[in-house]
Amino acid sequence: MSARREDFDAALDVASDRARAWLGGLDGRIVRATATVDEVRAALGPALPDGPSDPADVVRLLADAAEPGLVATPSGRFFGFVIGGTLPAALAADWLVGAWDQNAALRAASPAGAAVDDIAAGWLLDVLGLPPAAGAGFVTGATMANFAGLAAGRDAVLARAGWDVGARGLSGAPSVRVLAGAERHDSIVSALRYLGLGAPEAVAVDDQGRVRFDALAAALAAEPGRPTIVCLQAGNIHSGAFDPFASAVPAAHAVGAWVHVDGAFGLWAAASPRTRALVAGAGDADSWATDAHKTLNVPYDSGVVVVRDPAALRSAMSYHADYLVTDAAHLEPYERVPELSRRARSVPVWAALRSLGRSGLSDLVDRLCRHAAAFAAGARAIPGAEVLNDVVFTQVCLSFGDDERTREVGRRLMADGTVWMTGSRWRGREVLRISVSNWSTTDADVARGLDALARAAG
Ligand SMILES: *Cc1c(COP(=O)(O)O)cnc(C)c1O
Repeated sequence: MSARREDFDAALDVASDRARAWLGGLDGRIVRATATVDEVRAALGPALPDGPSDPADVVRLLADAAEPGLVATPSGRFFGFVIGGTLPAALAADWLVGAWDQNAALRAASPAGAAVDDIAAGWLLDVLGLPPAAGAGFVTGATMANFAGLAAGRDAVLARAGWDVGARGLSGAPSVRVLAGAERHDSIVSALRYLGLGAPEAVAVDDQGRVRFDALAAALAAEPGRPTIVCLQAGNIHSGAFDPFASAVPAAHAVGAWVHVDGAFGLWAAASPRTRALVAGAGDADSWATDAHKTLNVPYDSGVVVVRDPAALRSAMSYHADYLVTDAAHLEPYERVPELSRRARSVPVWAALRSLGRSGLSDLVDRLCRHAAAFAAGARAIPGAEVLNDVVFTQVCLSFGDDERTREVGRRLMADGTVWMTGSRWRGREVLRISVSNWSTTDADVARGLDALARAAG
């Protein structure tokens, strides 16, 4: 055994043992953390040591100190925010990504990274019902995917107006109009801010948070000829609802607008015949953002930007430097994303899709929806509980009467620890939000969740 291998072995053995113990213990533990931030800080020790430490000891210290401060987000009883777990193949592949330590920016720097990017991108376009010739980039999450897709859109609508953003910036440029549903995710707002486009104009939404077509049509008609971007949404974080793509996309295109779809978790509806109708027409948009770390259950952090015209993505994201050995015949991985140096982020995506196959992926989506429907049905049987949304996908919004009572049920539920659901405000009311996003959630987990809800509401 080489000295180098020994250097790694002891530390990796500790990491593997601790990872297995953590994953194996998920079933039996409460979901919330048992230590506070300050307690974990104290356990880790604040002082930077003067000298080196044994690598295995460092990993052991980290696991000992951190574990009480971990939330069991990969557990089948975590229903907070919109957070998926991690599929076994995706997690193991992610470990290899760390060990391989490829800089997957360039084909020359990692032929394997580029090959996996190509295949995983092709599979994604296929299962998500997106144009097969589109360009796809592997980014950290839907926030950056929204940023990259909207960057391509900004540059394209301004190019059509005779303005080269890359050369001239935005000072003096024709002003770009951005329309987004009133219930767009806030990362759309931040992406637009990074892009110098300011806050979007809010388009009125219906009682499920869907863009109202009449409101969109009126807004589109109001300022003809102005460079326009329309942001639509596949999967409202509260209701799970989908914007009316089949009418909205052609209407936006009719006035020359660029259409971007934020489908962080909802674009995956396309992967199952049962839910595919929810995204009908979304594939006709110009750019899309989605996450692999939510519905697909890939470890953090993993998002994907897709742009119909690969040249638009490349011109928004790419740059040339003489030291970067590029292959003129191909789009390099870094030319589709904001980052240059990057981990081989497509590898766990590839492994997740390869391990599920087409039927496994559609079963996963169906299962999440079935559990959400079971939560809604079970909640309706709890005295005082009300389901506020039409449960069309993976999200359920509950109220337990007035705001204070809903907050109190949420507090009791968190103290109980059997499940994690997050509080929020939706349509002027305090809500308890259930997001079913974890591949490993079982019928028994849902039953335990409903029991916990009934106890908290009792
Ligand atoms: C989660 C989410 C985002 C942001 O995605 P990140 O992966 O957290 O960057 C954007 N839009 C929607 C609809 C989301 O659910």
